[in-house]
Amino acid sequence: MFAAIVRLFVLLACSFALYSLTQSAWGHWVALGIALTVLAIPLGYFYIKLSTLKKYLQADELERLPAASGFLEDLFFRLQRYVKAIKQRIFEVERQHQRFIEAFQASPNGIVMLDSQDQIEWCNAIAERFFGLNFKRDAMQRINYLFRNPEFIQYLSAREFEEPLVIEKMGPGSNLSLRIQAFPFADNRRLLLAQDVTDLYKAEAMRRDFVANVSHEMRTPLTVMMGFLETVQTIDLTPAQKAEYLELMMTQGRRMKSLVEDLLTLANLEANALPVLKDSVNVVDSAFPLLKNDAEALSQGAHQIRFEAESTQLLMGNEHELMSAFGNLISNAIRYTPDGGEITVQWGVNSNGQGVFSVRDTGPGISAEHLPRLTERFYRVDRSRSRDTGGTGLGLAIVKHIASRHQAQLLIESVPGSGSQFTLLFPSERIA
Ligand code: ADP
Repeated sequence: MFAAIVRLFVLLACSFALYSLTQSAWGHWVALGIALTVLAIPLGYFYIKLSTLKKYLQADELERLPAASGFLEDLFFRLQRYVKAIKQRIFEVERQHQRFIEAFQASPNGIVMLDSQDQIEWCNAIAERFFGLNFKRDAMQRINYLFRNPEFIQYLSAREFEEPLVIEKMGPGSNLSLRIQAFPFADNRRLLLAQDVTDLYKAEAMRRDFVANVSHEMRTPLTVMMGFLETVQTIDLTPAQKAEYLELMMTQGRRMKSLVEDLLTLANLEANALPVLKDSVNVVDSAFPLLKNDAEALSQGAHQIRFEAESTQLLMGNEHELMSAFGNLISNAIRYTPDGGEITVQWGVNSNGQGVFSVRDTGPGISAEHLPRLTERFYRVDRSRSRDTGGTGLGLAIVKHIASRHQAQLLIESVPGSGSQFTLLFPSERIA
């Protein structure tokens, strides 16, 4: 550059020298022409180089730096360094931003960023599902215009975000329960977090139902017993009547005892560790004789009870639990099958190597609509029949629990009017 300017001045000096020498009319035009030509050469050079620099800066990818010399070379090199640093910074910020987005998307909670007007600036896929949003469509829309839940609208407008809002059952036909809380952040914005608490509320509702059911089941025999006691206390009864009343009280006492025992069994099943594979039960030699004794004592000769062994293989599992499950199924078959009916208990191993314990009866059977609910606690098809036969409504719940602790399936087949078959299907790993 400096050299070019020096050259320019030298040429200008030459042309004026020529002008002063010639002193002719055209002499100064010649000098001016030479001066302009000399000026145009470096200006053209600058123009061409700056155009290539502009192209270089406009390109998405940094290509090779345009060639230049002297002052321009130094300028281009510094510019290139500066542009590279900025591009690198932009790349890092974008990558960080992308990571934040991915982290928010990976969150199991719904996340919505709202501006000061409650307009949606961003939300993750879970929030789209929870609130019925579509970010592409709903960006910068006010959330309370899109999610029209009255409790939510009230929560958002009250601006009191210290406590979360819980919405049980988000809408008609939806079981979803959400815990929502807004957290204010920069420039009057809000971060809305929504957590799915459906299971928590379901468990809480189940606990409430369970306590109510237990109280009810306990109150009924207690009320009956109190009534008998009052009668015995206030009325002069004959010894025979007294004996009858005491027997009735005994029955209610037994009912309460069975209920408490079944509740304790369930509590123990829930509290105990899973049964280990090293314990085993010899179903045919050990379990069958005990089960047979109990069955005959319960039936009092009213039924034909058969025990059939198709295999002598051992079943790996907790003996106490398995005996309780087998006993419950046999006791149900006896209690629900009218006198004269047949009950068949079978143990075998099927072609897949699975252990099969089944109890078949010729009782009243159960209609299909009840089958999926039979293992619920306190679910009974016929409430009075269950009570009359000393049922607690917990037997099949206990069986199901024990089955799942042994990775077994409880299969129920029944034909109303013909009978039922309850089968426990144990995985082949539990057969020794
Ligand atoms: P429960 O103590 O009332 O017998 P369970 O949980 O053992 O309670 O059984 C639930 C319900 O399933 C019973 O109330 C009864 O209506 C029905 N049930 C169970 N086993 C049989 C069976 N073998 N035949 C007919 N109904 C049965």
